[in-house]
Amino acid sequence: MERKICEECRGKIVKKNIDYIFLGENIGSFPAQVCTKCKEEVFTEETTKKIAIITKEKGLWGLNDRTKINQVGGSVGVTINKKIAEFLKLRKGEDVIVYPENKKRLVIQVL
Ligand SMILES: [Zn+2]
Repeated sequence: MERKICEECRGKIVKKNIDYIFLGENIGSFPAQVCTKCKEEVFTEETTKKIAIITKEKGLWGLNDRTKINQVGGSVGVTINKKIAEFLKLRKGEDVIVYPENKKRLVIQVL
């Protein structure tokens, strides 16, 4: 879809190549339509498909997971699925640092 004006803010759209970062890894540089005002980046359907193929090839696909909070004694626990655990090379008994980045985001820092 060719856009000239941003639907969100009515800003001007320019075409430029941008680096696509997925889960902290640079997937590559892709042509995008970028709003000069709100900086929203939109890829064409074709580019989106291309990005999906590359992230799958890199084994990064499916690393976003929805999980539930468990009660563990007086604390709560989060289960990390096998795919994410393998990606981060997490092992039982290993120390990690846990801290809230803000009220909506929890960071688990692998050491
Ligand atoms: Zn905009």
